[in-house]
Amino acid sequence: MRVTIFGTGYVGLVTGTCLADVGHDVVCVDIDQAKVEGLNRGVIPIYEPGLEPMVKANHAAGRLTFTTDAAAAIAHGDVIFIAVGTPPDEDGSADLKYVLAVARTIGKHLERPAVVVNKSTVPVGTADKVRAAIADELRTRGTDVTFEVASNPEFLKEGDAVNDCMRPDRIVIGSSSTMAVERLKRLYAPFNRNHERIVVMDVRSAELTKYAANAMLATKISFMNEIANIAERVGADVEMVRQGIGSDPRIGWHFIYPGAGYGGSCFPKDVQALHRTALQHGYTAQLLGAVEGVNEQQKGHLFELIQRHYDGNVAGKTFAVWGLAFKPNTDDMREASSRRLLQQLWDAGAKVRAYDPEATAEAHRIFGDRDDLTLCDSARAALADADALVVVTEWKQFRSPDFARLKQSVNDAVIFDGRNLYHPDEVESAGLAYYGIGRGRSI
Ligand code: NAD
Repeated sequence: MRVTIFGTGYVGLVTGTCLADVGHDVVCVDIDQAKVEGLNRGVIPIYEPGLEPMVKANHAAGRLTFTTDAAAAIAHGDVIFIAVGTPPDEDGSADLKYVLAVARTIGKHLERPAVVVNKSTVPVGTADKVRAAIADELRTRGTDVTFEVASNPEFLKEGDAVNDCMRPDRIVIGSSSTMAVERLKRLYAPFNRNHERIVVMDVRSAELTKYAANAMLATKISFMNEIANIAERVGADVEMVRQGIGSDPRIGWHFIYPGAGYGGSCFPKDVQALHRTALQHGYTAQLLGAVEGVNEQQKGHLFELIQRHYDGNVAGKTFAVWGLAFKPNTDDMREASSRRLLQQLWDAGAKVRAYDPEATAEAHRIFGDRDDLTLCDSARAALADADALVVVTEWKQFRSPDFARLKQSVNDAVIFDGRNLYHPDEVESAGLAYYGIGRGRSI
């Protein structure tokens, strides 16, 4: 099938590559010329495990091409995906300007019937706006082309996106058009061979499903952080509590890890946007407000622990920071907890020596050159001349450090473990002070 995808970000590039990999003929279009030129030369703009060889192989095979030529791309597709960003607006609602700009572009160039599929995460009712924008442009041109607008929210996780795309838990299709549903079922048939993964529903339910999924996951994290904060105060260890509740299948093990707060390009903005949508419809979603509130507070928690340890005197101290990405296996630092921590440390007059296996270039892009930040090329290099170690992202390579060596490297012999990677007893028996999240002894 011939597929066009608007947006070559995390979602558009991974989706386009996976669709090409199963034999579809995919054209990816982006307004970022440098990105498109890079992709055509085999430069992959993001880090995503397994993606690079797949892009190169499918590009070389002619099934995956990149262009800035929207008109040609629109002429190509039987299915046209919109996978552009939906960042938060000033009031927290999703900003649809990129999505609607694509819709207008489609309306300007559409010459033959097509199914337009919204893969961006968008508030309920957006499909109607996309349909209206396309129809408006067609009317202006005096052209009458039939088209359908469907919703197909994306559930891939950064860091495991290729795997999620090739083996999805479910594929949600929101449409009341039999033709659109059948076309999308054919498109996704290669991913739906072993058991039924496709869930067909109306457009509005599909749009809400994506927000419900992310809000549920964010709620689990904030809930666990709330328990962690209680555990700290009552002298309990949240890691024990986590093990005590995760085995209950009604609760499950996923997303009950306490930590330094959730970040990324999705949870913060999607919880906010759903909260806004509810308000716009006259409903105050109290739980969503609390989920956001707990997370905001949690992002400052590591710094509170640091302040507590140093009695508020961190000026002149140097902190080794392990992990900058918002989670492991990605270079994405959007809304990352590390950003809040670094700013707080700098505001307090401290210096940072940071290491992240993939996000160093992104950190340099965000922070530029500054005297109080050294971006290091290894975890060990970050420790040189540092007074304390702070772990912010749970990359695998940080899981089993040599604590005796750490004791030698870190001047003040203290670890702030923002992801509870270590066992307090093990760290303390090496002669280091230990602070985790929700571990009663931190108080
Ligand atoms: P991104 O910011 O990584 O990429 C967006 C791309 O769209 C950019 O390359 C940008 O240049 C391009 N673009 C903007 N306007 C364009 C236009 N008019 N024509 C062509 N290209 C245009 O975004 P992303 O992380 O891939 O997210 C895209 C959408 O998918 C968002 O709504 C997001 O909420 C949703 N989503 C993201 C994830 C994730 O893990 N990143 C997962 C599920 C859903």
